Amino acid sequence: MPLYEYELCEGDCIACGGRFTLRRPLSAKPLTHCPACKKPVRKLISTFNSPLKLKPVSISDAKAAGFTVLKKLGKGEYERQ
Ligand SMILES: [Zn+2]
Repeated sequence: MPLYEYELCEGDCIACGGRFTLRRPLSAKPLTHCPACKKPVRKLISTFNSPLKLKPVSISDAKAAGFTVLKKLGKGEYERQ
């Protein structure tokens, strides 16, 4: 199920903190109100689709994201960097 990020259109919410993520099926109706406080929310553009994220990922980015970066040495051989 895709993960969606929402934020309150106005005000604050103790329950959701004003910004929250929800995993919803694609078939679900668009969420217009916080399930906790019933205030109107808007969906945030997924960071995965953001043009800012389309730049090539560097090794340090990958490491920061928790990846173990492996350098290909040859046939079936990898070296941890
Ligand atoms: Zn709320």
